[in-house]
Amino acid sequence: MNFSALPKIELHCHLDGSLRPETIIDIARREGISIPSFEMKEIQKELIAPLECESLNEYLKRFAIPNLVMQSKENLRRITFELFADAAEENVKYMEVRFAPLLHMAKGLDVEDIIQSVLDGMKDAKNQYDIKGNLILSCMRTMSLASAFEVVEKGKSFLGKGVVAIDLCSSEEEGFCGKFVEPIALARKYGYRVTIHAGETGIGKNVLEAVELLGAERIGHGIFIKDCIEAYNIVKEKRVVLEMCPTSNVQTKAVNHFSEHPIYQFHKDGIKVTINTDNRTVSNTTMANECKIVFNEFNISHENYKQIYLTSIEACFADSETKEKLKKYM
Ligand SMILES: [Zn+2]
Repeated sequence: MNFSALPKIELHCHLDGSLRPETIIDIARREGISIPSFEMKEIQKELIAPLECESLNEYLKRFAIPNLVMQSKENLRRITFELFADAAEENVKYMEVRFAPLLHMAKGLDVEDIIQSVLDGMKDAKNQYDIKGNLILSCMRTMSLASAFEVVEKGKSFLGKGVVAIDLCSSEEEGFCGKFVEPIALARKYGYRVTIHAGETGIGKNVLEAVELLGAERIGHGIFIKDCIEAYNIVKEKRVVLEMCPTSNVQTKAVNHFSEHPIYQFHKDGIKVTINTDNRTVSNTTMANECKIVFNEFNISHENYKQIYLTSIEACFADSETKEKLKKYM
């Protein structure tokens, strides 16, 4: 099967994990930014997490270098444009890209400029390619409560203009949801949709809390609902959608092998699943590759894929006109 030709939708993709390595080298060279190497092969080694990575925290170390070149309006715009362009080239028709605005203030940008620059890059791509998109603002769980409020407040004026949702990401501790009840409740009140990274590192109960305490409509990963019956049941009953990322899940050791990935089992049992990259560069993958893995590993049918594609449409935070258009590709 030609996986590139398949129409695709991506709901879970981090901007800072998806830079073209050549862009990192180019920006670093022009701006005199110190990076470990200007050789493509060497820099790729620094950026890509190995499949034998030890943990999520090990995986997250790969984001340090990209961050160095994401500190100006022009660079953020370019990097976003390139991500959407790369996705469009492999027939991704709609993509929600997430990023943590507070990570891009190291050289004095303010949050509004950061969000606007990413929006501009997305708009540039929409003008040139057959791809639509929206943005999700991520709050880092490792940062203070005040910084989560800051993201919610400063992103508010972009709602309806390309920003659609709020997310919590980074390392996952047990019971993290309790800490973020207030900012996420405020976000919901303002009209943000809610997706939360949870159940990625062995703690299924975090998924239960993300749904009950934070009102998560979608869950990033959610692998470990397999070990927590309450979480499993609430996800199934409330039709909470799981954004699953097979390669990333092997790298972070959420699962040890692709064959152990629960995506198809969940799907067969009526859990709403979607296929995503998480990070194109850090996971050294594409949507075509993730689809290929799911097709080959679980021998899924085209009909199964169609159901997953339709789930992605149902679950995406786009307007109804966009959703209708997306249905026509399949
Ligand atoms: Zn993620």
